[in-house]
Amino acid sequence: MTSLASVNGRYRMFRSFVESIDEDAPFHFSAKDNLTSSAFETCAGSRVLEGYRPAFDAAPISRLSDIGGQLLGKTNMDEFGFGTFSANSAYGIPLNPFDTERACGGSSGGAACAAAVLDGHVALGVSTGGSISCPASFCGVFGITPTYGRVSRHGLIDYANSLDKPGILSARASDLSRYLPVISGRDPRDPTSCMQPDLVLTGRKLRSVAVPETALEGLSRDVESAFRTAIGTLEGMGVEVETVEMPTLKYAMPAYYVLATSEASTNLARYGGMRYGPQDGDLALRFDDYFTDFRSRYFGDEAKRRILLGTFTRMVGFRDRYYTKALQVREVVINDYRRVLDDHDAVLAPTMPFVAPRFDDISRMSALDSYKADYLTVPANLAGMPHLSVPCGYDGGGMPIGMQLVADHWCEDVLLSAALDWEKGFDVRRPEVME
Ligand code: GLN
Repeated sequence: MTSLASVNGRYRMFRSFVESIDEDAPFHFSAKDNLTSSAFETCAGSRVLEGYRPAFDAAPISRLSDIGGQLLGKTNMDEFGFGTFSANSAYGIPLNPFDTERACGGSSGGAACAAAVLDGHVALGVSTGGSISCPASFCGVFGITPTYGRVSRHGLIDYANSLDKPGILSARASDLSRYLPVISGRDPRDPTSCMQPDLVLTGRKLRSVAVPETALEGLSRDVESAFRTAIGTLEGMGVEVETVEMPTLKYAMPAYYVLATSEASTNLARYGGMRYGPQDGDLALRFDDYFTDFRSRYFGDEAKRRILLGTFTRMVGFRDRYYTKALQVREVVINDYRRVLDDHDAVLAPTMPFVAPRFDDISRMSALDSYKADYLTVPANLAGMPHLSVPCGYDGGGMPIGMQLVADHWCEDVLLSAALDWEKGFDVRRPEVME
């Protein structure tokens, strides 16, 4: 077993990790650092939570621990999940194991990195708008984001409560079907999990997929050609592939950023240097000045941007125009998916329009550029539908390319069997790990 300290020194996937690995444990896992853990500090990538040691484990962590898994550590992420490259982290920025000058994707970048680098590793991630699929694609691993409400959010540090979904990343498809049922299920501590039907793995096969016409727009040349090849492979496996129109997908991204920032701005209101994290606010200041001073010092730029955006979209006078409108758009997108999924098992598109970018290119991107990169992952998240990213090719430089299948609510079983079938026919490459 690799030494965690040395692999972490090279790839920076962990914010904190165990001193020794229990070789007798039946399996090892990690958790994104927005899932509370009593064994480690939990900071969700933010300085505002530095030093916070929760009293309990988040539901998915305790369910994996209950069956004997050893929690190896907490993985680095964008602050509160705000980002697409894990570069908005106050702690470490994970480095892509296929090329350390490139990002792992985000916001579960550390999770994808750990899944790619450590043998037989199960990484718990969380997706709000694509944070499992995106890093899975950039790091060449499998990632499943379940239906909203399938996995309890108890112990998850909220980004946007109506969108947050814990899930799993792994280099092996079989781990997804082994461990997703373990972390799934009703939990009275998260009422949104209590209406779910059981997750039964029936072995139901993927027989037909719909590819939205727009899925081929805006792709890099390498992604487009890998995706076309993958479609051919799927057809060779007996899957029927049909191109369809999904005219509402283009509205998903603006609606998502309105809803996600609206919810995030209220969630972040609880951080004021009193209950969690550093408590060094100047109590001699007036009330407003105290919070302005503390929050200016401890929140990163992206968190501040989202507080401003989300406060604006909820303001009296703007709420109907933005927030309420975005809720209506969400319904329209769900209906568009349902219409297509009536006749197909899944909707298929590339996961990300390009391979993992280099850090120097990321530093030149505006906030809007990076929001736009999510246009393929956001719609399924807005709709709360389960989705799976699988490695489907490599560019000329060996960087992984992923594709994403979206199934109807509660139909994870089709995705899990598709992952297993895909893995049988596709040669998933592992990075050459340096210590
Ligand atoms: N990149 C998206 C965002 O910044 C999604 C992140 C996520 O799923 N946490 O909101």
